[in-house]
Amino acid sequence: MSNAANVRLTLARDLARPIRAGHPWIYRNALASHADLPAGAVVDVTDGRGRFVARGYYDPKAAVAVRVLTLDADERIDSAFLRRRLHSCLELRRALVAGDETNAFRLVHGEGDGLPGVIIDLYAGYAVLKLYSAGLLPHRDSLVRALRDAVPGLKGIIARDDLKAEKGELLVGDTPPDPLVILENGAKFAVDLFGGQKTGFFLDQRESRFLVRRLASGKSVLNCFGYTGGFSINAALGGAGRVVTVDLDADAVALARRNFTLNGLDPAPHDFWAADVGSTVKRLTEQGEKFGMVILDPPAYAKSQKAVDAAVAGYTALNRTALALVEKDGLFCTASCTARVSAEDFFSAVKSAASAAGVRLQLLFQRFQPPDHPIALQFPEGRYLKFFVFRRVD
Ligand code: SAH
Repeated sequence: MSNAANVRLTLARDLARPIRAGHPWIYRNALASHADLPAGAVVDVTDGRGRFVARGYYDPKAAVAVRVLTLDADERIDSAFLRRRLHSCLELRRALVAGDETNAFRLVHGEGDGLPGVIIDLYAGYAVLKLYSAGLLPHRDSLVRALRDAVPGLKGIIARDDLKAEKGELLVGDTPPDPLVILENGAKFAVDLFGGQKTGFFLDQRESRFLVRRLASGKSVLNCFGYTGGFSINAALGGAGRVVTVDLDADAVALARRNFTLNGLDPAPHDFWAADVGSTVKRLTEQGEKFGMVILDPPAYAKSQKAVDAAVAGYTALNRTALALVEKDGLFCTASCTARVSAEDFFSAVKSAASAAGVRLQLLFQRFQPPDHPIALQFPEGRYLKFFVFRRVD
């Protein structure tokens, strides 16, 4: 990582303002000058008059050619830089998230933490590293070294790069025990850091799951898109009666059942269905079933701007059919993790769904992502998670 003579790239148009304000992405078509640079080259971006704007790393293939690491012309991109960033990340998590009851959290949330494209999740002392740009791969060893320096007692580091094999690969340290058990607000979860979805667990719903624990007492619960039972366990710990977990991923559903046992909860009165939510909701409706709480936490719908309208229509349809299963005075918990669907758009989708289903709803809680998934204010793309709790009042 040398900065001795960084290649300078010039902005094509006057785009210096949003970048100086903190937007960390510079698209290829925003650059006037192009150089034949290798992935990961540290470059200085200048405005039309040759003045320094930002320093970042180069990706020759992606639409985002440069991701900004610093706006300070005097800041070198070296191992001390990485250590400083990681220390700051760790301080925030220690202050607000990690503790005796929670040992799994996101340590680095890419753009939101000033390390664009870098995701690092910590699970009971094991780190999972996910790099979202080819421009980061040459820096992986430096990142791993900085991570070991910054987090004392780290037991092992696993790579889950989008750009490489889907399966994780142990980079340094020990292979985690099987199962690796993490703690989230005192609840235990077995996680698979090598093969599980995302980096193993959906850490971003931690606070919503805890909220469900508070609300589920005495209720029958239908947890749709339940993965390994995050919401289900919390509902059961909060005193829910029967909890039904539905997910297409059969391995995840099997793990959900094990997670009940792990928490001292007898899985016998509960159901674990490896099934499609759409057809399950249809069948339950035909059978006239109702639940005191229905949870919807579907995967992201729209990866591109074009798909946004389709995503909103998808949310409306899903929420409309699921609402039919909520009993009077029951709770409806509905989430969207699609960044391109704003909180307002998602709210409108639920409103249309409620009208179409002929039900009246009160909004009780609105939640967004927790502080280990911070949002850089100038980077609206980072504001992705919405979680609303409604009560059916008709
Ligand atoms: N609520 C979970 C996270 C859910 S992520 C938690 O707290 O951990 C979304 C889940 O939806 C994934 O586990 C995926 O396997 C599942 N999924 C995607 N499409 C589905 C479908 N049509 N029917 C059922 N599950 C589906």
